[in-house]
Amino acid sequence: MTAPKDTAAASSAFDSHHPPARELIDQCVHCGFCLPVCPTYVLWNEEMDSPRGRIYLMKLASDGKSEMNPLWVSHFDSCLGCMACMTACPSGVDYSKLIEATRAQIERRHKRSIAEKLYRRLIFSIFTRPDRLRLLRRPLLAYQQSGAQALLRRSGILNLFPKELRAMEALMPQIGAGESIPGVTPAQGPKRCRVGLLLGCVQREFFPQVNAATVRVLAAEGCEVLAPQEQPCCGALLVHAGEEAAAILLARKTIDAFERANVDTIVTNAAGCGSNVKEYAHLLRDDPQYAARAKAFSSKCRDITEFLGEIEPRAKRNPLKLRVAYHDACHLQHAQAIRSQPRTLLLGIPGVELAEIPEPAVCCGSAGIYNLVQPDAANALGDRKAQLIAPLNADVIATGNPGCLLQLQSALARSGRKTPVVHTIQLLDTSLCPRLSEATSDSSSRSSSSSFTAEDS
Ligand code: SF4
Ligand code: SF4
Repeated sequence: MTAPKDTAAASSAFDSHHPPARELIDQCVHCGFCLPVCPTYVLWNEEMDSPRGRIYLMKLASDGKSEMNPLWVSHFDSCLGCMACMTACPSGVDYSKLIEATRAQIERRHKRSIAEKLYRRLIFSIFTRPDRLRLLRRPLLAYQQSGAQALLRRSGILNLFPKELRAMEALMPQIGAGESIPGVTPAQGPKRCRVGLLLGCVQREFFPQVNAATVRVLAAEGCEVLAPQEQPCCGALLVHAGEEAAAILLARKTIDAFERANVDTIVTNAAGCGSNVKEYAHLLRDDPQYAARAKAFSSKCRDITEFLGEIEPRAKRNPLKLRVAYHDACHLQHAQAIRSQPRTLLLGIPGVELAEIPEPAVCCGSAGIYNLVQPDAANALGDRKAQLIAPLNADVIATGNPGCLLQLQSALARSGRKTPVVHTIQLLDTSLCPRLSEATSDSSSRSSSSSFTAEDS
């Protein structure tokens, strides 16, 4: 831990632009209820890598008793931002606001090494740009389909690369045929609402089958679906990593795009994006042109499972005889308090049996860019989750976030298991429109869903 500076008059290590709020810091009563669910405390048993320890470090820095030095920063870099501590906290400490403010301070005030800076820049310049992700599809497809990937993985050559690049390679999704989402998809039967779909970046380019399934389900349930083609990245990865200025620019553009679409509800199907857009009012609170609009925008946002839970089911569910292990994405269960809705949705499919994964509150290690920048901790958490899933003998694992999907696929592959991992909405889509979803799913989704089919009746 950083040694406290011995001066009561020392000034704060934070600048005056939204430092972590003192009243939130002081709400922590040090009870420790959050410790057993904090993934880094679970891994290392270190007080300063627990929520309580991190809040204490914020307090020291705020009081000018600790500098923002590399050791201090490392305890915040190791935080997954999973928000399990918020769910567990009986005092209602809003850790999400604290860590977001702390990370923004770190990115403004702390000098990262050149290598770190370049790597972070590389990540943000790719993963927040759907156009650049699209350009990567062909080379990645060639890498996978030519056999080069299998060869390199078998040869052990990848072990010569830095662990961060190895992590990126290991998490690479199976690239399939692209699937474009129309700007407007009409409702089936009488229209009951006009819904906008947030396409995401990784979801749009690497999991187009998830967006396509979401559109089919919404249309089957009587919703007209608008997918504004000009929508940018929502900025989730940036805001969760402390890149506040860049995140604000993207938030404004996202609001503009959905205002033009004039929709009743904005549906998200990626937990990290969903939790981010619901917090636009906070992100844009200083912006006189956008503060009120951000509030109106956020109030319309719903996760797909949350939205479907609010409307009466209309489309017929065909049976799926499946044992499904549902994995709670942290940004759904902790950041959006969405736990029951995905389970209710899955149990609404005749024949589906749910298997609960032990330690549901503990993160799988995905956490935005965490598995790219902290691969050792992320792998340890992924392996732990894979071990907990193994005895469940599930036919398929369902989750609500593309990051979790990749993390679980990668961890299961390391443990030698081939249990498919899919988005929750893909199971409902298979139940609602079995032939259509089979015909339009790309090869990757078919390979990951080959063990389940709807018993069309
Ligand atoms: S956000 Fe997650 S990793 Fe960070 S302190 Fe809270 S529980 Fe621990
Ligand atoms: S549970 Fe809440 S009050 Fe208790 S130590 Fe953790 S953050 Fe502080």
